[in-house]
Amino acid sequence: MTGNEVRNVIVIGGGPAGYTAALYSARALLEPLVIEGVTWGGQLMNTSEVENFPGYSEGVLGPQMMSDLRAQAERFGTEFVTDDVVRVDLTKRPFVVETADETYRANVLIVATGAKARELGLSSEISLQGKGVSYCAVCDAAFFRGQEIVVVGGGDSAMEDALFLTRFADKVSIVHRRDEFRASPIMLDRALANEKIELVTSAVVDEVLGSEEGKVTGVRLRSTKTDETWEVEAGGVFVAIGHDPNTSLFTDALEHDEAGFLITKPHSTATNVLGVFAAGDVQDPVFKQAVTAAGSGCMAALEAERLLAAEEHARATAS
Ligand code: NAP
Repeated sequence: MTGNEVRNVIVIGGGPAGYTAALYSARALLEPLVIEGVTWGGQLMNTSEVENFPGYSEGVLGPQMMSDLRAQAERFGTEFVTDDVVRVDLTKRPFVVETADETYRANVLIVATGAKARELGLSSEISLQGKGVSYCAVCDAAFFRGQEIVVVGGGDSAMEDALFLTRFADKVSIVHRRDEFRASPIMLDRALANEKIELVTSAVVDEVLGSEEGKVTGVRLRSTKTDETWEVEAGGVFVAIGHDPNTSLFTDALEHDEAGFLITKPHSTATNVLGVFAAGDVQDPVFKQAVTAAGSGCMAALEAERLLAAEEHARATAS
């Protein structure tokens, strides 16, 4: 297929949602194209062991799992472009999708560009990612049984992560930069009532400390009021300071919430533009799991197939 032809489906994004949307679209004979980004694979490329994706009973490395999902979509004829989308035009169908070198057109678009966990921005944090620094408590809590943990953040995610971590850890310190919390009162109360949780307010992480073997050993904290610094021992640091969706290309055309997450219709992946569906973390500020992303990728492909079939039927009966 050349760049000038109008495709049935273009999927933008190469994470669990995008590849699952491609798998289902390919098996529906829609010959999808996935524009997967230069750094395809999504957030799981930065994780090590994944133990909570169904089907991998022994666990799997994140990059391996993403190669498996990609290969499964490829097996049924998905085409891939390993490049970044730089511009889209969603004002009329067929939609236009541009990379730096090429222009593509499609009757249906599935936006699956994901989200990024916010980082603290410390070089010690980056170098200890996967070695005790984590951005997903549900994914990694079980690796910290019997240890002391630091959770950074003051929103619902930090409270929820800290509460979840108490099932495994001996002690969880929530470090928050202010002395007022963004978290809902009920979540804050639950955290306060848990005897394993300690709140450290008006403090920021200055540095994540690591051993010579490259494992997290603690954090150096700094008071935002006095500038005093002190160290806290910890085997793990969970950064829970929010996620940013990768939606800057779409926010002109597609309805989104204040944080930029795309809004889809209830029980659907349909956006406010007919023919544009959104799947995965790009439209999910709540669950943020690979399996829920994959599930919504499947929904998007099924909805795409139904829309295209209904439009074809309408054309056939009109002529
Ligand atoms: P959030 O509400 O945006 O909270 C982020 C927290 O991280 C804030 O306390 C913020 O501090 C802090 N923070 C941001 N950047 C920081 C930095 N560079 N250094 C230190 N701290 C930093 O994000 P969220 O907690 O992920 O929640 C996102 C949405 O999902 C919310 O609407 C939330 O209610 C919802 N959610 C709900 C549940 C639930 O109901 N069970 C669970 C999880 C999430 P400041 O307060 O000082 O800005």
